[in-house]
Parts: sequence; C-alpha cells; structure tokens
Amino acid sequence: MPKAQETLLEIDLKALEHNVTYLKSIINPATKFMAVVKSYAYGNDAAEIAKFLENLHVDYFAIAYTYEGEQLRTAGVTTPILVLHPQSVSFNSLITKHLEPNLYSLKILKEFIETAKQLKLKHYPVHLKFNTGLNRLGFSENDIPEILSVLKATDTVKVASVFSHLGASEDLNEKTFTLNQIKAFKNYSEKLLAGLLYKPLLHMCNTSGIINYPEAHFDMVRSGIGMYGFGNSDLENTHFKPITTLKTVISQIHKIKKGDSVGYNRGYICNTPLTTATLPLGHADGIGREYGNGKGFVAINGQKAPIVGNTCMDMIMVDITNIDCQEGDEVIVFGDYPTAEMFAATANTISYELLTGLSQRIKRVILR
Ligand SMILES: *Cc1c(COP(=O)(O)O)cnc(C)c1O
Repeated sequence: MPKAQETLLEIDLKALEHNVTYLKSIINPATKFMAVVKSYAYGNDAAEIAKFLENLHVDYFAIAYTYEGEQLRTAGVTTPILVLHPQSVSFNSLITKHLEPNLYSLKILKEFIETAKQLKLKHYPVHLKFNTGLNRLGFSENDIPEILSVLKATDTVKVASVFSHLGASEDLNEKTFTLNQIKAFKNYSEKLLAGLLYKPLLHMCNTSGIINYPEAHFDMVRSGIGMYGFGNSDLENTHFKPITTLKTVISQIHKIKKGDSVGYNRGYICNTPLTTATLPLGHADGIGREYGNGKGFVAINGQKAPIVGNTCMDMIMVDITNIDCQEGDEVIVFGDYPTAEMFAATANTISYELLTGLSQRIKRVILR
C-alpha cells in the first residue's frame, strides 16, 4: 500500500472475511448469520461491505432505519434485510424495496398491518422484538395475547423471526442479568409460538453474546462490531482483526517559541519550545473536541504524537517535538497502533462511537 497523501479510511476486506469466518466457526453450522451493517457498516462503507458479505453467504442483513436499507437495495443487495427501527411514515418505501420491518409495539404492528391491507400484501415477512430487560424497544409479555389475536385476523403478514437484544452481554459481572434475559426470551417466544401455526426464527445474540452465551444462539446470531474487528474485551479482541485504518498526512510543521500558543482560543500555551505537525482532520471528520488538549494521540513513525490545543473543524495539531518526521509523512490516527479502541478510550468513549461518527467526507479506500 503506498503511503497516504491525504486523509483516508482504509477498509481491509481480507480482515473482514477473517472475522466473519471466525464468528461462523464458533456457531453451529445450521445457525444463521445476520450481518449488522447499520450506520454505514459502523462507519466503513455499507454498500461495499454488504456486497462483499453477500458473497460470503451471510443469511440476513440488519440496518437501523429504512433509508439505510433503501441504499443497500439501490446498490444491488438482494439478501433479506431487517430494519431494526422503522417508523410507520416509511412503510411504503420499506415495502417497495422489500425490506422487513421489526415490529416492536402493538401500535406499530397494527399500523403495518393496515398498510399491508391497503397494498393487498400476503404473508409479508415481519419480525417481532421482545423487551427482556434492556428497556429500549420491544413488546412485553403482557402483549402476547393481543399480538396473537391481531395476527390471527390477517394473512397480510407472516412472522419471519422473533428476537430480543442483550443489554450487557460483554460484562461477565452481569451474567445473572443476562441469563435472566435469555430465560425471559425463551418463555415469551414459547408462548408466542404456541399460538402460531408455523415456526419463525429465534435470535438474541450480538457479538459478545455469540462469544459468551453459546446457549443463546438459537436459530440465528447478529454480529456488528466483531465483523469490523473488535470484541468487547481484550480476550475477545484476540480473535478479531480490525478492518479499518484511519490515515492522514503531515501538512505543515511549526517550530513554536516558549510563551506562544497553538490553535483557537490559545488552547495550548507553550511553556517550552514546541514542534507541531498540522494534520488535515478535525471535528467535522468525527474527531471531536473531546480528543483535544492532550487527550488523543496519533502515531507518526510508530511514535506517540499527542493532540495539542483544541480540535478544529478541519485540522488538528500534534506534538512532534521528539519525533523525527517531515512534511508529507504518513500519520496513523488509528489502526494497528493506536487501535480504534485505544484512541476512543482517550476521550472516554468506545470504538462503536468513534467508528460510526467518522464523517462521510473522509475518502474510503477498499483493500481487496
Ligand atoms: C447494533 C445491534 C447489533 C449488533 O451488535 P454488536 O455488538 O455490534 O455485535 C445486534 N442486534 C441489535 C438489535 C442491534 O441494534
């Protein structure tokens, strides 16, 4: 790979394949695999990644909003797509693109059936989500009799799957909580299935759930962060290869005298002479102000260069006083070192937020 001469997000499809192969190796061969590609495949590039994953024969895709699914269909993706968080205003576009809604409340279930009746649909695949303790989205146990009576009164929809979401699958101190979620899901889905004449798929596990709770794999698992190269612990991380490297370049070097300052609002006052490098990357790219003032650091020739002063919209300045480097040299924001997790931790956040917050204006480069 030639050295970066501008800010680039490199996406390594070989690493993606490695991660998917690993995840598939720890599930039963009969268990289906749903690839979660919401939010531009966690900040990467949803269309490129989904098309690559389609060739690896994943069974399902999941995205959060209808619009994301429309984009995948426009890119030519034909695999079934679950919309995790649809709103009724988008049902017509959802159906036009043959996307499959998660119906999480009686209100949205009835609204979808109303639309399905108007469009004279038959057995349209829908997914029902139960709340088992995350208290975010999903039916409760008390809704089951009414769900069943609503479903029995129509043949417009067919339940393709019943699912739930774990709230603390990465945290083994919360094992009791998680086991209770699994127990509740078994109980609710059994009650629901007892009233249906067919058997939908059951699924519950995200990446950490796949690793920590094999007893909860059911018929399908859903992975996002693991495919992109991260677990939720150091141990999990050993199985994964990060697929994303954010690179940039040194635009200019400044030698700054003692007493002078760097950046907006004189964010950094030099107590000693300082050498800085200015990089074309800022809060508009997703490297927020919380990384400024010495918290975040990048790597130049493998050495740590802390961010000096405030993060600007399109630039950051880093301390290179003790680093041998020149204008035009490549800079690693995150990749092998620092990792995205290390970088995110400097601003008290997690790889999920860092990756999904990367702006679309950063050029994506796909390594095949
Ligand atoms: C985002 C999401 C996932 C993927 O979780 P990871 O921890 O990234 O594997 C799975 N299921 C649901 C419902 C989600 O919202």
